[in-house]
Amino acid sequence: MLHFKILTIFPKYFASPFMDGLLKQAIRSGVLSVDVQDIRDFSRDKHRTVDDTPYGGGAGMVMKPEPIVAAIKHAVEDNRSYRVIVFSPKGKKFDQSAARRLSRHRNFVLVCGRYEGIDERVPAFYADEELSIGDYVLSGGEAAALVFLESVARLVPGFVGNEESLVSESYENGLLEYPQYTKPKTFEGHDVPPVLLSGNHREIEQWRSEQSLKLTEQRRPDLLDAAKKYHHNSKTMETREKTN
Ligand code: SAM
Repeated sequence: MLHFKILTIFPKYFASPFMDGLLKQAIRSGVLSVDVQDIRDFSRDKHRTVDDTPYGGGAGMVMKPEPIVAAIKHAVEDNRSYRVIVFSPKGKKFDQSAARRLSRHRNFVLVCGRYEGIDERVPAFYADEELSIGDYVLSGGEAAALVFLESVARLVPGFVGNEESLVSESYENGLLEYPQYTKPKTFEGHDVPPVLLSGNHREIEQWRSEQSLKLTEQRRPDLLDAAKKYHHNSKTMETREKTN
């Protein structure tokens, strides 16, 4: 069972993402629970203030620590051993290997910032990790929380019906996935590569790994070093297994 508690000042943002697809199924079947908490509920003043001007001056407003920390403390009260994540463009990069590392955990508190971000004392003293989902700036951490939740949940046994499909997915072996095709064989004059219709599994597998490598070289040469390491390690493992 996976538990996510999302802290946000825009709880309605999360109204629809859990109403369809795998997320809906996972909630229905009890694999996933998502609890969205309004940070404003933890503000102590009658205006439900959550932000203030930055010390040292500068544009915009900063999210105050008190309501966020009160919301975090409330979220972890049930002692489920939570991983507390704060989203920020200056956080560590969240990628597939981070998702895999974090998928060992089952309980998460996800803190979504807004405005110019969150008072630094929150990530420094009340969170386990500060993560960025990419080198760009969003208006809020809500989209980041959804990206995090979906990518981590996919890796948890029981979330994706066919776990085999995860093995060949992009990034899992360090490379981008090969191109996929379905019926019809010819669409508006464009044919499916004949090898995929051959029924020869060895040739299909070879074609897929060639395509996967070619795509990665063309689009993400930066991934190749990591992929080489991965393949080197799995070859070494294979050799070890054979000699044992
Ligand atoms: N002033 C901040 C900076 O320059 O680093 C940007 C704040 S951004 C407008 C507001 C909130 O959006 C952040 O507190 C964070 O929660 C979220 N956010 C924006 N970009 C993000 C990213 N790439 N990854 C994760 N969260 C992000």
